Amino acid sequence: MDSIATEPTAKRADGQTQIAVENPATGEVIGHVPDMTAGEVAELARSGRAAQPGWEAMGFDGRGIILRRMQRWLIDNADRVIGTICAETGKAYEDAQIAELTYGAAAFGFWADKASQYLADERVRTSSVFVKGKRLVLRYRPLGLIGVIGPWNYPLTNSFGDCIPALAAGNSVLLKPSEVTPLTSILLAEGLAACGLPDDVFAVATGRGATGAAVIDEVDMIMFTGSTATGRKVGVRAAERLIPASLELGGKDPMIVLADANIERAANHAAYYAMFNCGQTCISIERCYVEAPIYDEFVTRVTEKVNAIRQGVPAGPGSIDVGSLTFPPQVETVERHVAEARDRGAKVLTGGHRGRSTGYWFEPTVLVDVDHDMACMQEETFGPTLPIMKVDDVEQAIRLANDSQYGLGAAVFSRDLARAEAVARRVNAGVVTVNDAIINYTALELPMGGAKPGSGVGYRHGPGGIRKYCRQQALLISRFHPHRDIHMHPYRARRTRLLGRLLGLLYRGRR
Ligand code: NDP
Repeated sequence: MDSIATEPTAKRADGQTQIAVENPATGEVIGHVPDMTAGEVAELARSGRAAQPGWEAMGFDGRGIILRRMQRWLIDNADRVIGTICAETGKAYEDAQIAELTYGAAAFGFWADKASQYLADERVRTSSVFVKGKRLVLRYRPLGLIGVIGPWNYPLTNSFGDCIPALAAGNSVLLKPSEVTPLTSILLAEGLAACGLPDDVFAVATGRGATGAAVIDEVDMIMFTGSTATGRKVGVRAAERLIPASLELGGKDPMIVLADANIERAANHAAYYAMFNCGQTCISIERCYVEAPIYDEFVTRVTEKVNAIRQGVPAGPGSIDVGSLTFPPQVETVERHVAEARDRGAKVLTGGHRGRSTGYWFEPTVLVDVDHDMACMQEETFGPTLPIMKVDDVEQAIRLANDSQYGLGAAVFSRDLARAEAVARRVNAGVVTVNDAIINYTALELPMGGAKPGSGVGYRHGPGGIRKYCRQQALLISRFHPHRDIHMHPYRARRTRLLGRLLGLLYRGRR
């Protein structure tokens, strides 16, 4: 990256506006990227469109070779990739290794293997009497140019990750990463080029919200991951252009702990998945409902575990457990939620403060005696906090878990699997795990998406996770083709009556 002034935005000698990228754990500027204009985005889109037919023509096998090379490239360049992610997000080395590098490597192999299966032509059987004997086929064709707009919390997994199935389907892709974490995407573009991806099939449009809006104006479909507020704007802009939009938005995932749960397992999951990635995961545990008989013991164990977390500047494997927050304004959000809860009578059992002076920090925090209308129980905190609430029974737990504008993920803990599954089926979330959390995200065969509009529209992963990047084309092939079909002009009374009798036989139905 160029070495220029360290203000958030600066002009280079050639007049191009540059955005400074900061290490949020240290406050140090680690690079600059162009703040691309709508004109620059349009130029990338033109090149992407020109390159797409060649990429599509390579077929699943040809594309799969490059995707599998990229899988190896990620592992061969693991330290560089993890180093870049840690530097621009402030997260722990292991958070980047487990949830980003591993996801990326698995996803390249998965989509290389599955694209041909999920997008294979489907032979369709019909009940229509008019087309009996004809061949009906459903096929999937790439849409053309896909725009992917991503957030800052997982620059590889949640931003770049959605480009992989789009590419596997035969599309060109224009990725707009968060202005806060663009360096990982630029590094991965370098990897794709080194693995033989044809020029211009993949491009990174760096910039802010205006650059993202310009991407929507150019592409054939938009895949957006980010906040509910921005998702709404993206949906409106896509609707104006009549292009499809898939929106993966915010979450406020509840954990329900029933009285017969393995308390130690539940406490470990609550402490880990609330604080993992400094709480900046769309499906992190954001609130806990615990049945009264085990509440005290659960709270004691969670507090001990959270208290033992080592937070600090990431410095390689094993150096820390939890890093900094990534996005500076997030510190104010977390502080506001904790302060409001405290002012209204909640108790902070551990943490509760901003932490270090340089960088963007908030301590891992456990809150109890919370009310359900507090911001920490209703709004997405997206930080290292865990509010825990005592509930009288499972009915109250389910009611409170569902009392949210969000419905992304949820978790239920109980030794009685049948009961836990029955509870899981009543929670209104896109995914519900039993005696587990978050790990479903690694099962790329399983769809992942919001169950309520606040958490998004559409899914990633599974067959739908690649078919959304395609248009469906229906084919009807008449193998037998006489000069004229029986239903055509001229209409004859005898034939019409015959058809009437046939309709009676077909559709009068069985009693
Ligand atoms: P934002 O909505 O603020 O930003 C997301 C992306 O949209 C960024 O690249 C941003 O650019 C860009 N953007 C901003 N304004 C516009 C616009 N008008 N048109 C087009 N693009 C625009 O989200 P965050 O980056 O703050 O990410 C955190 C959020 O993401 C949380 O709510 C989290 O729950 C959600 N998320 C959801 C996931 C899911 O799978 N459901 C997964 C991961 C995160 P810039 O950053 O440059 O402003």
